[in-house]
Amino acid sequence: MSVVDAPAGHEGAWTDSHCHLQDLDDLDAALARAVEAGVARVVCIGTGLETSRRAVEIARRASGIAASAPSASPLAWATVGLHPHDARDGVESVAGLARQLAAVPPAGWRPPGAVVGIGECGLDYHYDHSPRERQREAFAAQVALARELDLALVVHTRDAWDDTFAVLAGEGVPERTIVHCFTGGPDEARRCLDAGAYLSFSGIVTFKSAGDVREAAAICPLDRMLVETDAPYLAPVPHRGEQNEPRRIPVVGQALAAVKRLPAREVAAATRANAQVVFAIGPDETTGAAPPRAASAGDRRAPTGSQ
Ligand SMILES: [Zn+2]
Repeated sequence: MSVVDAPAGHEGAWTDSHCHLQDLDDLDAALARAVEAGVARVVCIGTGLETSRRAVEIARRASGIAASAPSASPLAWATVGLHPHDARDGVESVAGLARQLAAVPPAGWRPPGAVVGIGECGLDYHYDHSPRERQREAFAAQVALARELDLALVVHTRDAWDDTFAVLAGEGVPERTIVHCFTGGPDEARRCLDAGAYLSFSGIVTFKSAGDVREAAAICPLDRMLVETDAPYLAPVPHRGEQNEPRRIPVVGQALAAVKRLPAREVAAATRANAQVVFAIGPDETTGAAPPRAASAGDRRAPTGSQ
């Protein structure tokens, strides 16, 4: 599938399938830097009621900027969800916001600025910030919500593979499901792929210690792979210690390309096309998106953090 014709010397237009723009310092400058680096689309992720509201506001605003000044911002979409850390808050308020905003447009594609997913939600038994029983309840409720509203499901799972699959099996895996910031090895990757999920790889693939994640990427078919920054967390090597931003997507994508032994351009095109399908955001002709600009070498520094 020919998704986009990138200018010579440029890898193409990337999609950052998972970032927290709410938490970025100097957001407008970060959006412009993202476009300069070849990032055409971003999905801003909610983790609770307030951050979900902010995700929607930011996605609408960024898409408005992109419409009038394509060099100033990528197109953006939002998700609404409750992170397992905050599962004790209960899903009700977040579910209300999602129901209010999740209307499917007649075209089927969700336009820039729209809500495209439920999450991030899931189970985090590493930190156990909420009781596990509450985490499972909140996760199950959001799996059901994604199915009810025909939205993508964005899953966060840490030290909880078996229960994650049990909840998904119990509720029924939504047709469009993403395991975000995939940190398993080939066995977990196979289980996710068998369940029909997409795997979203973050800057962790650049970490020296992450051989198992690279093995997982090696067996992940190109048509089930996504790329994300999880900005402002998880800056890839060699940018550790800086604020992570969507502009670092090419660094993550190049690491995946090295694992797959493919040109980065192909990984960019495939992950962009996959994001169009999994989030139902449609190809460029449905959004009127401008073609990507060539990247320049300008590279500014910014401070940091990790989710
Ligand atoms: Zn995240």
